[in-house]
Amino acid sequence: MCHALLQDSRFFCLLLQIDIELAAQTRAGGCLCGGVLHCANFPRKPRCCLNEVRADYEWRFSFCCNRCRKRTTAVSVRFLGRRVYLGLAVVLMSAGRVEATSAVAKLGEIMEVPVRTIQRWRNWWIEQFPLTPLWQATCARFMPPVALSQLPASLIERFTGTAAEPLMRLLIFLSHLTVGRPLTLNEGC
Ligand SMILES: [Zn+2]
Repeated sequence: MCHALLQDSRFFCLLLQIDIELAAQTRAGGCLCGGVLHCANFPRKPRCCLNEVRADYEWRFSFCCNRCRKRTTAVSVRFLGRRVYLGLAVVLMSAGRVEATSAVAKLGEIMEVPVRTIQRWRNWWIEQFPLTPLWQATCARFMPPVALSQLPASLIERFTGTAAEPLMRLLIFLSHLTVGRPLTLNEGC
C-alpha cells in the first residue's frame, strides 16, 4: 500500500472534490420532513492533514433543516466518523505488515501518530469493523471472503484501479460507515 498518498496534495484535493459532490447530493435530497437544508458545516481539527490543504479540511459538510432544525451531515471520504485523524491515515497506517513494526513506527513519527494509536486502529479493524452494519450488509459480496485477520490490507486489495484509485474506492465504500447515524458536534478520537 502506498504510504506516499499521505503526503500527496493532489490526492487530498481529489478527496475534497468527492466530499463536495457527496454534500451536494445530500443537500439536494432535502430533509426527511420535506424541509430545505441550509449549510451548517461544523469545524474539525484534522490530524495527519497536509498544511497546504488544511484550510479546506477544517470543515465537515453538514446541513440544518429550515423547518425541523434537524442536522443532516453528508457522508465523507475525508473523515472516518468522529475520529480526529483523517480516514486515509486510519486506513494506510493500519495496513502496514505487522512485522514491519519499525517502519510503521517511523512513519508514525513523521505523521505524528503515536504507535499505540496505530495499534488501536488495527484492533478496531479486526475486532470492531467486521461487526459494523456496513460490513454485515456487504461482506457477502466479496468472494472469496476477505481475510478478517489481515484487515484493512485484505480489503484494500479487493478494490481495483491504478495508483490512488483502490484507496479512493475504499474510502467511498467506508464513507457509508456513518450513514443513518448523524454525527454530533462532539469530536472524540
Ligand atoms: Zn426537517
